Amino acid sequence: MSLSFNLLKTSEKSLRLGRLTLIKNQEQNILLDTPNCLAYTSRGCVPHLTPDNLQAIPLIDAVSVTLEHFIDIQPPPSTQFPGGIHKFLNFEGYLVFFDVRDSGKLKSVSYNTDKYVSIYTCHGVRQITSDSYIKYMNIYKPDIFASLADKITDETPSLKRIKKSVDRTLKWLDNALSNEGIQVFGVLTGHNNQEERIRSAQETAKRNVAGFVLNGNFLENTSRERINMLKSSLDHLPSTKPRLAYGLGTPEDIILGVSEGIDLFDTAYSVKMTDAGHAFIFSLDLKNDLDSSKQQQQTINLWDTNFRNDVQPLLIGCQCYSCQNHTRAYIHHLLNAHEMLATVLLMSHNLYHYTNFFKTIRESINQNTFFQKAEQFFKVYGEQKMEETKNSTIIYN
Ligand SMILES: [Zn+2]
Repeated sequence: MSLSFNLLKTSEKSLRLGRLTLIKNQEQNILLDTPNCLAYTSRGCVPHLTPDNLQAIPLIDAVSVTLEHFIDIQPPPSTQFPGGIHKFLNFEGYLVFFDVRDSGKLKSVSYNTDKYVSIYTCHGVRQITSDSYIKYMNIYKPDIFASLADKITDETPSLKRIKKSVDRTLKWLDNALSNEGIQVFGVLTGHNNQEERIRSAQETAKRNVAGFVLNGNFLENTSRERINMLKSSLDHLPSTKPRLAYGLGTPEDIILGVSEGIDLFDTAYSVKMTDAGHAFIFSLDLKNDLDSSKQQQQTINLWDTNFRNDVQPLLIGCQCYSCQNHTRAYIHHLLNAHEMLATVLLMSHNLYHYTNFFKTIRESINQNTFFQKAEQFFKVYGEQKMEETKNSTIIYN
């Protein structure tokens, strides 16, 4: 198995098009064009979707799985299953990225030490050491895993605590890299301290990592401020390796993140919106003559009684299964009837739409129209929404 990342195009500022190539064997290659997203999973499933539903969404090639969802029993029973995590979770055709913590619900934990990270599970707090994590990775055999990281969940940590977090994370990264066989992404820490963010980035970049993970979950600012904070890390990374960022889920987050050279995002935001009964209708391909004096909506709320008799699809022109076969009125009815099919249809549409948004971004970078389209996007949807979306962290129990 081999993994490589190639930059296909770099243009203004930090904007870039790339391709992550995973060669699994002679018969199976996975190509992931970037910017792109990894499908968020909870307990190894994309929420609301069966593997068949997921396969019907054509642009999803990669999923993100977290140990946090399996570790309530140690060792996890799934480690007894032969064939690795791809086979166990029905993800054989996908690139599987593994991390310890759930990027969508980073709850604060009692404490981490030099030896272990504490995580909450449905059966209480569990401790993960760097060695036990590597042991599980060798059994699960994901395509990539993020190194164990001492992520700070306090809002106002001391400088001493931040430095300790950087030191521990680097130590655990070295341990992960000493285990050959599975590609490792180095996790960048440093919380809100610029000097420590730079130190973490520079030190991680010196190591033989396959890529980098940045965390925007705890930076409680506007999208633009959070991206600027991440920029202090991004500026010190080599351009030749992919960068994955958590906590950036809104279209504004993605546009600004892509502008600064982030290649991979997750889809936790689309789960959050699905759970709230919303369907995505935002677009990067906006007509120039669209009335920007009236702020456009990015989503529609299917709980709204106005949709009771609306026989249009969720989004006119959308080619997803839900829009091709069902109406807003039907999904509104399903929500009111508390039928799980409502969120199945919403999730199918939202993921389809989200992945197509990334496709549109890639096309616009290729055609040198990205910044022009991004400017029009902010004009039409307004920047105040970015103030509202302070944090993409979701609580997903
Ligand atoms: Zn649709």
